[in-house]
Amino acid sequence: MNFDLTRIKTETPEGEKHVKVLIIGSGPAGLSAALYAARAELSPVVLAGLTLGGQVSLTYMVENYPGFPEGVGGAELGELFKKQAEHFGARVEYDSATEVNLSSRPFRVKTYVTTYHADTLIIATGADPVLLKIPGEKELTGRGTSFCATCDGWFFKEKDVVVIGGGDSALEEGIFLTRFAKSITIIHRRDALRAGAILQKRAHDNPKIKYLFNTIPIKINGENAVTSIRLKDVVTGEERDHPTEGVFIFIGHSPNTQLFKGQLTLDERGYIQTDLLMHTSVPGVFVAGEAGDPHHRQVITSAGMGAAAAMQATRFLEEHEVVEEVKQS
Ligand code: NAP
Repeated sequence: MNFDLTRIKTETPEGEKHVKVLIIGSGPAGLSAALYAARAELSPVVLAGLTLGGQVSLTYMVENYPGFPEGVGGAELGELFKKQAEHFGARVEYDSATEVNLSSRPFRVKTYVTTYHADTLIIATGADPVLLKIPGEKELTGRGTSFCATCDGWFFKEKDVVVIGGGDSALEEGIFLTRFAKSITIIHRRDALRAGAILQKRAHDNPKIKYLFNTIPIKINGENAVTSIRLKDVVTGEERDHPTEGVFIFIGHSPNTQLFKGQLTLDERGYIQTDLLMHTSVPGVFVAGEAGDPHHRQVITSAGMGAAAAMQATRFLEEHEVVEEVKQS
């Protein structure tokens, strides 16, 4: 890539749009970046996708975001982030990036609606749940198999369900499911949970939650709806069908970074490589939140990274003089 780091050309073809800061993603990282970029008077545009708020909007209650001692609904928090960013001049578009070209500046980002020419880009595309990749999983998703207790828990009133995974997500979502389900069996591949102590204690104290350790799922059974799950004991090798009407899968996440493959340096799991200043391998392109961070997955860490990315984008624009008048379509 051959960038002139001292100059940014901003000629924009008819019908296309020029922006100083384009943000892809509307979770806590994207909307916090929008707030900071807006307050720097950079009129950022956020490509929100189809729905606002990212993964947190599917969370029933966020209890660990400071300033909300009683907790706050995930979707409500997303709306509040948006309102605050818009108050300072951010524009949120319900549109998605379909193609990016980071080989010259301004960066070009095609969407369903238009093409943006962006002097700086902040990637806040987040992550999606990892699949088990076992027979029945795809076929029965939405028919008893789910990746979101907040979205689907209500359908499992007085039913016996299983949760796959031993991390914080599995326990948090499992505890949430106790509102509806008759019983929740947490199925974990090892003999010790990975989740933090507080969640472990909460789950332990809940009489609806049971555990099956050293066990992996190998097939989800059912024609039109889940009827059972085939399990294998990893110690004895024994297989058996465990009756259940719901299978909730929480075995981690993978980043939404396919658009940037070959253009930015990604690690072996697809996370965008970054440093403490949210830089990527292309100057002027920054990353915030789970697209570049496999470790934390918290609203507050993603929001913090969003703010940092916007501050760095602001500094980048200050340091690289714009040499041509913006021809806004
Ligand atoms: P995670 O910590 O990576 O846990 C994934 C779990 O799934 C692990 O127990 C893992 O087993 C298991 N697993 C992975 N692949 C599997 C497979 N193919 N078959 C069966 N089991 C499999 O993921 P997470 O729970 O989504 O959490 C990710 C991050 O977000 C963590 O840093 C976590 O602390 C954070 N988080 C925090 C909160 C909170 O603070 N309230 C809530 C949710 C998430 P092993 O243990 O054997 O590896």
